[in-house]
Formats: sequence, structure tokens, C-alpha cells
Amino acid sequence: MRSNPAEYECVAPGTLSSVLSLLTQEPGVWLPIAGGTDVMVQYAAGKLPARKLVSIWNLPELRRIEGSDDELRIGAACSYTDLRENAIVEREFSLLATAAAWTGGIANQNRGTLGGNIVNASPAADSPPALLVYEAELILISSRGERRVRYSDFHTGYKQTVLAPDELVETICLPRRFSGHAAYSRKVGARNAQAIAKVSVAALGHVSNGAVDGVRIAAGSVAPVPLRLRGTEAVIRGKTIDSRLLRSARAAAISEIRPISDIRSTATYRAAVLGNLIVEFLQKLAGANQ
Ligand SMILES: Cc1cc2nc3c(=O)[nH]c(=O)nc-3n(C[C@H](O)[C@H](O)[C@H](O)COP(=O)(O)OP(=O)(O)OC[C@H]3O[C@@H](n4cnc5c(N)ncnc54)[C@H](O)[C@@H]3O)c2cc1C
Repeated sequence: MRSNPAEYECVAPGTLSSVLSLLTQEPGVWLPIAGGTDVMVQYAAGKLPARKLVSIWNLPELRRIEGSDDELRIGAACSYTDLRENAIVEREFSLLATAAAWTGGIANQNRGTLGGNIVNASPAADSPPALLVYEAELILISSRGERRVRYSDFHTGYKQTVLAPDELVETICLPRRFSGHAAYSRKVGARNAQAIAKVSVAALGHVSNGAVDGVRIAAGSVAPVPLRLRGTEAVIRGKTIDSRLLRSARAAAISEIRPISDIRSTATYRAAVLGNLIVEFLQKLAGANQ
């Protein structure tokens, strides 16, 4: 059923502290809206979980991208265009830059935010696999103060997160320690542009003395939450990339996912494609070190 605009209230207090005090006064009543690209789809479908919206778009604290010696801090309301235009993201976090380029069309990239992608919590979203392999941490903020959580602990189940009703994601922190790794990512959808992933993979690898001494792999659309493939990493770590490893890594990846069949794909297809992508990642990693 379509929504009736008269039933909704949308405010833009303009400062972070006034947004936080609104969320504190009536937790769960006010829904933050950043770029609105997910919220407006829910609204149009009559599925918005709240009648009161508070804008966090353009709050300066949420729009900064700042690099220190050991990490890059990205404000949660930075858009995909902000990410694509940032030199550090492009140089050191190419998996995130690629995910930003994959996310919808230009209009969507100008408006959609990284924080919105995280909190919307779709297992098919494009940024989460990159955030998992970069071992991102989130700064969550409320009137009670702030706390820092590992992104790998943020999603607790399908569309469930540890975010409290009075909290915002303020900052996404990326450690600057992976620039020596080879990066691999693939999004498999119904078409190349503007598709929701049937399967996606982001991975980092490093080979030394003929063996893989660093590997991080995460996948989207293969479980209720974006998934780091730690079992597959354990199978790969320390090994030489040969046909035996390709077989065992493929099998390990397929065994640790929980894909479903839905409107976009079948569980069998998702498992087969994920296995192929793991093999492709390892072949490219081997090729880059010959
Ligand atoms: C045409 C179209 C194409 C799309 N294509 C893709 C795609 O290819 N890949 C993909 O991954 N996604 C895609 N999306 C989904 C969407 O654009 C992204 O998820 C986007 O990042 C959402 O950000 P937003 O700022 O618009 O979120 P909003 O719609 O403003 O908010 C989404 C949710 O997050 C919450 N929220 C937002 N920011 C915060 C914060 N800082 N703290 C706490 N809660 C917050 C809101 O309350 C809401 O529940 C597409 C959407 C559309 C409409």
C-alpha cells in the first residue's frame, strides 16, 4: 500500500548534538535519514518502519574523510562520490573504491552513503565485503557517548545489527596496513551495471617465498549477513598456490556459506559461482607473483 505523505514528519535540526538528543528523547521513534536512497524505496513501498524522520545529511562531523598515520576515518554520511574522489581511498582501499563505483548509477552515488549501506544491512550490499577484508571498525555515537565496534561484529543476523535506537554510525575506520596486498573483487549480477549482486567477493592476498602469507576474503549474498570466509582463509594461508589448493579452497568456501534461493538466484548457483571466484582470486594472486 502506498504511503500518505501527510502521515510523516521530517526534520533537519542541522547539528549532530540536536539529532542525538532527539534520538535520546524518543528512541526508536525517529528514523535517521542520510541520502534516503533506501529509506525512500521503503517509503514508496509503504514499508517504512517509522513516521518521524530526522535528517543527518550534510552534518559536517559525518562528512569528513581524514587520514592519520595508522587509519583512514570516513564519516558515515560520506557519499559514494565522496569515496570515489578521495585519493587515499583510491590508492590504498581500492576494494572500497570499486564497491562505490558498483553501487547504482551516478545519481545514487551522489546521494547514497556508506553509513546508510552499513545500517540498511542488506547481505547483498556492495561495500560490506570490502569493509570486512579491510577489518574496519565503526564508531557509534549517542548522547551517552561513543563506542568502537569491529565491523565484523556489527551484523548479528538478517537485517539485525548491534546499533541501539539512540545511536548513529558516526565514522568508519580503516587500518592503513594492507596497501602491500594484491586486491581482488568481483560482483556477479544479472548485468554489469546497476544490478543487485547474486554473489560478490572482495579479497586481499600476499605471497612471499612462493607461499600465501596473508589472505582475507569476504563475500556478499551468500548468507544472512555479509560473511568473512575465515575457514577458507585458514585453508589457503601458508600454502603454495597449485591445483590442489584451488580444489581445497573452493570446497572450503562452499562449505562455510549459507546461500538461499530467491528471486535473483538459486543457492546452487550462488555456491558454484562463489567457488569459481575463489579459484579466480587465487589464480590472479599466483599470476601477480610470477
Ligand atoms: C536505484 C538504486 C540502486 C541501488 N544500487 C545499489 C547497489 O548497486 N549496491 C548497493 O549496495 N546498494 C544499492 N542501493 C541501495 C542504497 O543506495 C545504499 O544502501 C545506500 O548506501 C544507502 O545510503 P543512504 O544514505 O541513501 O541511506 P538511507 O536511505 O538514508 O538510510 C538507510 C538506513 O540506514 C539508516 N542510516 C543511514 N545512515 C545512518 C547512520 N549514519 N547511522 C545510523 N543509521 C543510519 C537509516 O535510518 C535507514 O534505516 C541502491 C538503491 C537504489 C534506490
